[in-house]
Amino acid sequence: MQRAQKILQDTFGYQHFRHHQSDIIQALLNDQDALVLMPTGGGKSLCYQLPSMIRNGTGIVVSPLIALMQDQVDALNELGVKAAYLNSSLDNETQYQTEQQLINGELELLYVAPERLLTERMLSLLERIHIALFAIDEAHCVSQWGHDFRKEYQQLGILPERFPNVPRIALTATADQRTRQEIIDQLKLNDATIFVNSFDRPNIRYTISEGQNPKQRLWNFIQQHHSNDAGIVYCLSRKKVEQIAAWLSNNGREALAYHAGMPAEVRQAHQQRFLREEGIIIVATIAFGMGIDKPDVRFVAHLSLPKSIEAYYQETGRAGRDAEPANAWMAYGLQDVITLRKMMQDSDGAEQYKRIAQHKLDAMLALCEITSCRRQSLLGYFDDELSKPCGNCDTCINPPQTWNGTEAAQKALSCVVRTGQRFGVNYIIDVLTGEENERIEKFGHDKISTYGIGKELNNSEWRGVFRQLIALGYLDVDVEGYGSLRVNEQARPLLRGEIDLQLRHQLKAETNKSAKSSKKKSALRSVDEELFNALRDQRTAIAKEHGVPPYIIFHDSTLQEMANTRPDSLDAMRYISGVGEQKLKKYGREFLTIIQEHPLSELLDNNLSDTVNETLMHFDKGNNPSNIAQQRDIKLTTVYAHLVEAISSGLLDARQVVELSDEEYNEIINALEMIDDGEDNEPKQKRLKPVFEALDEAYNYEVLKCVQASL
Ligand SMILES: [Zn+2]
Repeated sequence: MQRAQKILQDTFGYQHFRHHQSDIIQALLNDQDALVLMPTGGGKSLCYQLPSMIRNGTGIVVSPLIALMQDQVDALNELGVKAAYLNSSLDNETQYQTEQQLINGELELLYVAPERLLTERMLSLLERIHIALFAIDEAHCVSQWGHDFRKEYQQLGILPERFPNVPRIALTATADQRTRQEIIDQLKLNDATIFVNSFDRPNIRYTISEGQNPKQRLWNFIQQHHSNDAGIVYCLSRKKVEQIAAWLSNNGREALAYHAGMPAEVRQAHQQRFLREEGIIIVATIAFGMGIDKPDVRFVAHLSLPKSIEAYYQETGRAGRDAEPANAWMAYGLQDVITLRKMMQDSDGAEQYKRIAQHKLDAMLALCEITSCRRQSLLGYFDDELSKPCGNCDTCINPPQTWNGTEAAQKALSCVVRTGQRFGVNYIIDVLTGEENERIEKFGHDKISTYGIGKELNNSEWRGVFRQLIALGYLDVDVEGYGSLRVNEQARPLLRGEIDLQLRHQLKAETNKSAKSSKKKSALRSVDEELFNALRDQRTAIAKEHGVPPYIIFHDSTLQEMANTRPDSLDAMRYISGVGEQKLKKYGREFLTIIQEHPLSELLDNNLSDTVNETLMHFDKGNNPSNIAQQRDIKLTTVYAHLVEAISSGLLDARQVVELSDEEYNEIINALEMIDDGEDNEPKQKRLKPVFEALDEAYNYEVLKCVQASL
């Protein structure tokens, strides 16, 4: 294990193992098999890469995803690890060379597609060489019930027969109990030690945003939280994908569409740009994301509701694989509920399939409507318990208010019944609120008892009520009709007043406050932003030159740490997480130069809080306090309070902040000192009033505070 620790530091540039990594590596070094369940971003690949480098021979990695193979091999080569891959994308010459390297024992790792591995030619080739271990990645592909089923995976059970003494490790990021057992059975891993990590992704903030105009809400979200970041926006249809991509582009963001109806080469080009450039937004149907291992996707947004919690977890899981703060944001409203309910009932297929699908959708809707912690509920679905509310989801940060909606629900349900269960939401709301229109008169619904009985709620509040009644299963959406509503059996006790119904209050649009607080979660201080951007540009340039995605050079978190700690020598650079020997040698000098070119000004080199420093940064650039207040959208008194802090700590002189002649300055000092004398135990601020009065109210309190701070 000492050797493993050393490789972790020297080659990968990390100080510590995470999760069960060291136990897993130990097991493989002891010739044992292992089954590893670890969420994406948990550091799965290290579990087989490291032992492959330590054990005698080559580690053979089975992976179903060609794009991912190339990425991983590129990343390993950057670290100075000898790795290669064999799949159908290579020409004959390259294949031949790779095989020769393998035979000559020159490779530490070889990635191979399952269908290639299973050819007799490949198997007998492998029998002639030393094999360190077999790693079977994405092991859930053996499950014929899962959505990633790969037939060849089921034949991997021959490995222990042909190679009885080679340890095997199977890995996956998604596996419930049943899939877990299938992996063990199919791959013959009965003696394997099982390592299960929590499925929690604590760095992802879950937000399910309800209300109307989802497009505008999406834009606000992106502007407030991710104005420069890479992200994925999921939409339900191809048409919508095209529209949203065009709309985001018109608004000034680099946004690319991705869906199955596009020519393969355009899709490929968009994916490449997403991987290789900074700050690209991909707008996609769910077809996008499989086989993408971009660690710095900062947000995943859903403009439509996923059909199950599994899908939601998997899709949102593409955010923040580098463990840095990321957002999973979803727009949710009445229309989503109606559309999905209709789709479920519409779909043909066996009754059993429909029932399961319906059940999964119910669970998803319940997640949208809960008033307690989203993460607890999400993990609970995977039998993974979180003992306390997470503090990093919308319901934890902004607890929703509930109200007793029993009476409103009864009115809504009766109105559906009275109008003959033939109408959609909008019409029913018109009747409830006593709208006067031709259609209502034509049907005579202005004469029924429920006409106008719901004037206490406005249109959008009623939409909220109906959304929840449909989501909770009290109202069905008719398939045949045009979204007409029917009262479900389940609603009887509610109509009879036997149960109380608590409903969510519609939240006001996400406030600026929450946006700012989440921004602070990022490890990057505002005073380091300029340096960080320069480091990022350098990284992009190198990546372009090498033809690899930028994150293969350095992760964002590594650049952030550089910006934050500003190492002044190669030796100091060595302690930055993510900088191994190879990368230090290759890039250390270049990045060091950039750090030296962006020194922290004397004013900003301090231990004051981030917000104070942001004010100081503006001040440093020559902005006056009222300008700063305007630009930062904070109160003028707050700006002065920040500047007073800087004066107190000796970073600024009072007269740099407030304009005073020598005479005026001395006058204030005298007044302060005179009145200061007597009452030493009172807080400083309180004593300003007499000073203010003694000076005939000629100077305002901000001026006095600044001078006072300099004493
Ligand atoms: Zn929470």
